[in-house]
Amino acid sequence: MNHLDPGEEERRLREQYAQMNEDELQAVADYGYELTEIARTTLQSEISQRGLNVKLRDAPPAAPAAETLDESDDLLDSPQPEPEDTEEPEEEEDYVAVCPKCHSSEIVFQGRDAEPATGSTNESKFNWSCDACGHQWKDDGIEEEA
Ligand SMILES: [Zn+2]
Repeated sequence: MNHLDPGEEERRLREQYAQMNEDELQAVADYGYELTEIARTTLQSEISQRGLNVKLRDAPPAAPAAETLDESDDLLDSPQPEPEDTEEPEEEEDYVAVCPKCHSSEIVFQGRDAEPATGSTNESKFNWSCDACGHQWKDDGIEEEA
């Protein structure tokens, strides 16, 4: 028989609670819903006897659901590498000008039209001619940046 005598348990609990200070009793009371009936009764008795403002909790507090919503922190803590968005344009290095008519690269730069005094460079004023087919045209010149 391993049955604990209720009177014995109460006595043991009473001694235990008697040695606790208010904070400790409060800590126990916070988990009042987990205590045995004897423990609850004994604890309440001890609290009343000391005239403490400690209340036994009857049920576990509502789960703090908000704490699980902070998963975005993980993303901030570990910044993902930017996806490679620097795809090279297809074989456009150096912008090799070709004849727009025959696509020959045998073209000759003939010079530019006289620049307007305003310095505007928006107009097509680069004169080209094609050695291959003799075509002549104008464009904005070779683009400097890729
Ligand atoms: Zn040509």
